Amino acid sequence: MVEAKKCIRCGCMYIAETQVCDKCQAKDGADLYRLKGIVENQDYEGMTQGELSIATGITNKNLTRFLGYDEFKGVCLNEQAIAASGKAQEGITELV
Ligand SMILES: [Zn+2]
Repeated sequence: MVEAKKCIRCGCMYIAETQVCDKCQAKDGADLYRLKGIVENQDYEGMTQGELSIATGITNKNLTRFLGYDEFKGVCLNEQAIAASGKAQEGITELV
């Protein structure tokens, strides 16, 4: 029995062994390409996931999924909450 799945990107129903539907496979590929570029250049250092989302144009939901992949296991994001960003900025001036 093959069950129809709901695409986690667009919400459409599809039947395949993949995480997303056919149409979204291409979008996933483009997102992963951008994310890999940033990870390879280590441009994500000190970023929160929200900032990485803005930098890559990848939604937080998709980022969470991608960062769970084995190839991104070494990616360590700044987990400070946005509420603490004032304090984080103080830290930055200290470093300068
Ligand atoms: Zn889809």
